[in-house]
Amino acid sequence: FSSRLERDKEVNVQVLLRCRPLSEEEQKSNVPSVISCNELRKEVNVLHSFANKQVDRVFTFDKVFGPKAQQRSIYDQAIAPIVREVLEGFSCTVFAYGQTGTGKTYTMEGGMRKKGGDLPVEAGVIPRAVRHIFETLEAQNADYSMKVTFLELYNEEVTDLLAQDDSARSSEDKQKKPVSLMEDGKGCVVLRGLEEEVVYSANDIYALLERGSSKRRTADTLLNKRSSRSHSVFTITVHIKEESMKDEELIKCGKLNLVDLAGSENILRSGSRDGRAREAGEINKSLLTLGRVINALVEHSSHIPYRDSKLTRLLRDSLGGKTKTCIIATISPSAHSLEETLSTLDYAYRAK
Ligand code: ADP
Ligand code: MG
Repeated sequence: FSSRLERDKEVNVQVLLRCRPLSEEEQKSNVPSVISCNELRKEVNVLHSFANKQVDRVFTFDKVFGPKAQQRSIYDQAIAPIVREVLEGFSCTVFAYGQTGTGKTYTMEGGMRKKGGDLPVEAGVIPRAVRHIFETLEAQNADYSMKVTFLELYNEEVTDLLAQDDSARSSEDKQKKPVSLMEDGKGCVVLRGLEEEVVYSANDIYALLERGSSKRRTADTLLNKRSSRSHSVFTITVHIKEESMKDEELIKCGKLNLVDLAGSENILRSGSRDGRAREAGEINKSLLTLGRVINALVEHSSHIPYRDSKLTRLLRDSLGGKTKTCIIATISPSAHSLEETLSTLDYAYRAK
């Protein structure tokens, strides 16, 4: 990452590719792997022959992580530099993009904290970023405050994953209140009704993350794999007080959005009239618009279509301009996912 002077001219979108290992079941049933990753050359090769057709394609990314890559090395190599930007007072966003079952949630959340202990090796981007931010600020003896929000976007509707289930409320109230997305006249997005939790330690944030993602999992079983069709956005905002040379107080404000996107298989479905298809259509809208926004940013286009979907509206102040964006595209090595894998590789490659 280069200096602040240069940053106006550069493209601040980084695209990484991660391929998960074959699962135990896939191994047992001898599903062939069609992916080989060359981390040094930053290349992914898709190679498969069937019937009388052959696929042999190579894609290049900013970084490539093969099936053996550890959560820690992804964090250290790809995410830590972004978190350092956040601590300098910038807004940054990390997206996980890919077909359901390829490791988006594993990459973003991973294995949770063991009670009382340090982070487990399977801890993903969110808990590692949280620890990194707290450790850095504590080591600097900084005067800071930190807030967290955790929301879900489903059917172009925002719900709060941190809202407390209050048993005193009527069952009607318990139906999650949708959060409304407004603009404040200066082009800044305001989410009305979204709880902002002030956090004082990494453990506070782990607890919130666990609360929110268990809420998401519950909705999942109730609503037929809702999470494959919804986006979740975990946002950390830090305010850091600084003494300037002239003895006046300066406050740096940094923001980190960690986004677990809806399964990209939903991008392909559209056209029919029933409820399920409508859902797919709406998700389609946020995923498609995200792709268009990122393309427009990469191509320095004069019109960035932020307004075309809720996801891009709510992330507007963290995409483009002086912000850093990182897309982690996740794929499966299985021959059975070939078509989806090629579609993910194409989408991610276009974002470069
Ligand atoms: P998604 O969120 O994209 O639908 P998940 O994160 O739920 O996918 O991953 C699907 C399954 O694969 C989970 O059981 C997860 O633990 C496992 N998995 C995903 N990526 C990896 C990886 N890199 N290493 C080991 N297991 C993984
Ligand atoms: Mg998931």
